[in-house]
Amino acid sequence: DPEERVFNFAAGPATLPANVLKKAQAELYNWRGSGMSVMEMSHRGKEFLSIIQKAEADLRALLDIPEDYAVLFLQGGATTQFAMIPLNLCKPDDPVDYVVTGSWGDKAFKEAQKFCMPKVIWSGKSEKYTNIPAFESLEQNPDAKYLHICTNETIHGVEFNDYPTPKNGILVADMSSNFCSKPVDVSKFGLIYAGAQKNVGPSGVTIVIIKKDLIGNAQEITPVMLDYKIHAENNSLYNTPPCYGIYMCGLVFEDLLAQGGLTEVEKKNKKKAELIYNAIDESNGFYRCPVEKSVRSLMNVPFTLEKSDLEAEFIKEAAKEKMVQLKGHRSVGGMRASIYNAMPLAGVEKLVAFMKDFQAKHA
Ligand code: PLP
Repeated sequence: DPEERVFNFAAGPATLPANVLKKAQAELYNWRGSGMSVMEMSHRGKEFLSIIQKAEADLRALLDIPEDYAVLFLQGGATTQFAMIPLNLCKPDDPVDYVVTGSWGDKAFKEAQKFCMPKVIWSGKSEKYTNIPAFESLEQNPDAKYLHICTNETIHGVEFNDYPTPKNGILVADMSSNFCSKPVDVSKFGLIYAGAQKNVGPSGVTIVIIKKDLIGNAQEITPVMLDYKIHAENNSLYNTPPCYGIYMCGLVFEDLLAQGGLTEVEKKNKKKAELIYNAIDESNGFYRCPVEKSVRSLMNVPFTLEKSDLEAEFIKEAAKEKMVQLKGHRSVGGMRASIYNAMPLAGVEKLVAFMKDFQAKHA
């Protein structure tokens, strides 16, 4: 019953597709005649193996992941990847390059400082993270082991539409907040990682797609749980994986395929984002989005009010109309509408109508 549910504009954990939640509900107590919930199954039993294998196969189909890439279902969030990447891809003295287009890229850089010699080769900080560099102007270190980017900065709403070519061939990308929101040419990357809790499932699952020839070079101090080789050799079943979360991701992948795959998903996402950005741009300055137009995120739309003292009222009134979690991140203020794959068009249309009403009342 749609009446029971709110439109949840949270940045993550975020809304999941209603049909996926209903399917999970129907299967919660007794998964497909097994007599067990997925939560109760052995992770080495045939039932769960069929679940994780199908999830991987469907993800491979969605992103057209080449055979020479491993898909890993891990734990620890994208934050753990900030350390796991340098621990596995370089030695303590190795230089690596970071392009910092927002807070998440900055966090990734800072964590890498503990394990290698990272350098920020471009930062958008002085422009309050509203832009992305011109790739040809990047001064990459030819010896850098990898080039790290965050393809969608969740807090600042800055998204890459295209990707820089790393001098040494290894591009590493944090795709946490735009994973599976559009087609991506995986072969351009050495490693892609994403926490599941925005576009593809509940928190607790972290997905890593890594070129197989990058696996197996971890630093000696690397804990077993942070070694890609261990997870790859054991098909993500070295220890007890986040079974239920992986099952949920699998249901989402099935749903995305049923929608026609990521080309169709991207079309829907573009349409939703365009509605909100148009409402902002056509408001004569009542609403503002600071991000450079060409790199505005399709997933996270940050905006402010010219009359900033009205922002609390905006958020409160929207919540009364069942549009929740519109408050911007505490570090930037204002509002933020996160409109991941599972946000229905109706939710966006309702928000845009609300924005217009609110403006009419207060202009
Ligand atoms: N990277 C990006 C782009 C994010 O949006 C987030 C969380 O919002 C993170 C990393 C951290 O992810 P996690 O909470 O899964 O560690």
